[in-house]
Amino acid sequence: MADEPAENISGGVGGGGVEATFAPGEADTRAEAVVDELGELYWRKAYGGQDAFECLVRTILSQNTSDVASQPAHDELMARYGGGDLAKALADAERSELAETIHAAGLYNQKSEMMIDAAAEIVDEFSGETAFDACVREEEPETVRDRLLEIRGVGPKTADCVLLFSGGRGGVFPVDTHVHRIARRMGLAPPDADHEVVREHLERDVPAEKCGFGHTAMIQFGREYCKALKPACLDGPEACPLYDYCDKVGVDEVDESVVDPAEVVADD
Ligand code: SF4
Repeated sequence: MADEPAENISGGVGGGGVEATFAPGEADTRAEAVVDELGELYWRKAYGGQDAFECLVRTILSQNTSDVASQPAHDELMARYGGGDLAKALADAERSELAETIHAAGLYNQKSEMMIDAAAEIVDEFSGETAFDACVREEEPETVRDRLLEIRGVGPKTADCVLLFSGGRGGVFPVDTHVHRIARRMGLAPPDADHEVVREHLERDVPAEKCGFGHTAMIQFGREYCKALKPACLDGPEACPLYDYCDKVGVDEVDESVVDPAEVVADD
């Protein structure tokens, strides 16, 4: 397993996650074996403990951009509006000032509007972030998920990230663009599955306590190995540590070309 990174912005500090055993040979499903193999590659951690509203803001900031771009925007935002009740501070924020503060994350007009709307809604309904945090931690995950999805700008991935990183809820496997691509390439979900169907397959096949790690590790794996345009296996089987677990749907190792797995079904 890799050393613990000096900084990891994805997880919480207070725990709430469950220690899991990672043993590829003993996995009940291929998806679990894949997550176990990723457990050999990457640092494993427990999830939960982030403030729910800050987590929501962070996830909105990270939409359509990288952690590298969204982290400075998050730092600026916390420097200007943090320190007290963040939801109340953002509900009262001046939109152009907030947009300027989060400039580095891109789409700042849209994102600042979404944050102010979400903050106003949370202050309205929960009177601030403390009661909202408690709701995310204590209510049934499906109830929390449905409530989060009603907030403008919150899609399934954002809702699942809030459940996972702040609620520490096991059994939540958020699907971003990397997870969506890798799960279908590997054959862990149907080639033409949308994000929701991929999520259902992974949450069915990966034990609850390993889903959080599986999510962050698969994203890292997508950045380092199973890249969109050039998956590592195009350099030969030994270039990918998960080669033996993978169906390589849409990957042509002879032609050294790739297509989205959904196109393979469309061509049949
Ligand atoms: S074998 Fe290729 S397609 Fe499969 S996980 Fe590895 S890099 Fe991705």
